[in-house]
Amino acid sequence: AHAPDGSLPHPRWMRVNTLTTTPKELLNRAFNNYTETTLADVLSAKPTDCVYYRDTHVPDLLALPPGADVSKTSVYRGGNVILQDKASCFPALLLDPRPEDGRVVDACAAPGNKTTHLAALYASHTSDSTTASDTPDTTASRIVAFERDAGRSKILAKMLKTAKADERVDVRAPADFLAADPGDEEWDDVGAILLDPSCSGSGIVGREDGACVFPRAPADVKGAAKGAPKKGKMGKVAKEERVKEDVGAEEAALKERLTALSAFQLHMVEHAMRFPACRRITYSTCSIHGAENEAVVIRSLISDAGREGRWRVLRREEQVEGMKAWGVRGDRGGWVHEVAEACIRCEAGTAEGTMGFFVCGFVRDLPDWNEQV
Ligand code: SAM
Repeated sequence: AHAPDGSLPHPRWMRVNTLTTTPKELLNRAFNNYTETTLADVLSAKPTDCVYYRDTHVPDLLALPPGADVSKTSVYRGGNVILQDKASCFPALLLDPRPEDGRVVDACAAPGNKTTHLAALYASHTSDSTTASDTPDTTASRIVAFERDAGRSKILAKMLKTAKADERVDVRAPADFLAADPGDEEWDDVGAILLDPSCSGSGIVGREDGACVFPRAPADVKGAAKGAPKKGKMGKVAKEERVKEDVGAEEAALKERLTALSAFQLHMVEHAMRFPACRRITYSTCSIHGAENEAVVIRSLISDAGREGRWRVLRREEQVEGMKAWGVRGDRGGWVHEVAEACIRCEAGTAEGTMGFFVCGFVRDLPDWNEQV
């Protein structure tokens, strides 16, 4: 069923929390009367239809029909599933955190969807390589999560506890990632950073996955429209003039807001690029605007931090299988082909069933572990 604007409905994505269960166990326990089907079938199903789809790009990700309510189920309350849009699973998957990375930082963590995903992926690699029962648990607190906002820090703590990820994550909240000095030896073993900063939120479909937007800039749409003529009795021509002025004011306000947001986002990427042992960064937004996406990537590569640190994009052929296979890539308009191809975009309202989203990986080859460039 298409919406009046032609867009397709949004499925109920849920990521199986492999810190507490496996997809097989979860399906047997809570969805044993459900039938596996295609995403197209799930998208056209009714909320109560017992069908699910198993994703091919993101391991451990399932989709239920649009409007399916799992929020009251014991598997949700018990932290066995995380309600997380497919696109929002891309950053941790692309970062591919492993014990050999040392510590992994989630710079903008609340409410914690990607932090819990990082913890689960990290743990999955550790259990691959851990055979002897007396091997120390290297998963303990190897993820460091920053969150600046006090209220959202509480939500983060709650989510980590519910997902049984609290012992695996060293929470620095409320704390500003920008206040962590990359030159401080405390951060010498940070090998990977997930950076998912506040953005315009223009790609969001529904707010249930906890995506967050930057507080409105002072010159927001309403504020900027203040200068427009006052409402009252108007002739047709005056009305048309007013509509034009309103549209103009909205466009100007949006431009101003995107300029402020992209400056903040660039500052965050540059800061991440200064951590001496960091080899991989993912930068993501739930925005559809190039100013917050490809433009930030390009500007950070040519910034002092990007050039001095010898950062480059994580090329498509270097990405994990699921991400390499994802066909929708960055906007090529004017950008270097390699960068566009490295960037991953998701569009809302399509047959893929995702929200609007953007992610790009940065990488660099350091001569030796812990050696500063
Ligand atoms: N990664 C989260 C998830 O998947 O659940 C969503 C993060 S949301 C898009 C951005 C978050 O970054 C907000 O909670 C915001 O308060 C936080 N933030 C913004 N600037 C920050 C900073 N300088 N240091 C730490 N956190 C920051």
